[in-house]
Amino acid sequence: MYCKNCGKVLEDETKDLCPDCEAVKNTEVAEEKVEVVKEVTSNTNDSSNQNTNNNTQNTTTSVLKKSKVAAGILGILLGSLGVHNFYLGYTGKGVAQLLITLLTCGFGACVTSIWGLVEGILILTGSINVDGNGNPLGD
Ligand SMILES: [Zn+2]
Repeated sequence: MYCKNCGKVLEDETKDLCPDCEAVKNTEVAEEKVEVVKEVTSNTNDSSNQNTNNNTQNTTTSVLKKSKVAAGILGILLGSLGVHNFYLGYTGKGVAQLLITLLTCGFGACVTSIWGLVEGILILTGSINVDGNGNPLGD
């Protein structure tokens, strides 16, 4: 019997590699394992970096403030339809104003347009200064 790898005569015929090549093979396997571990570790680092990036992006999104001027003007002009509340994310209040106006065939608009007008003014003067998600309003 000869060693498969280097052709040396094998003393131990149950193996197909001589002790030298066997040793080399074993160290290679060990090195491969170390490399795999390194890759896993670097992957973990990558994903935690990505998480950090995502967090930064989320912060950037919430910084995009809704305009209090736009919301205020919507409230004054279209308050009876609750448009300013839909814009700010106060969906429940917006639906209430819209339904009162529609279900009374427009008679309720006397109430809801004043309601919207008051809210529009409150928004413009800063008395209402957060949107439906609690984010502060911009200019
Ligand atoms: Zn060999």
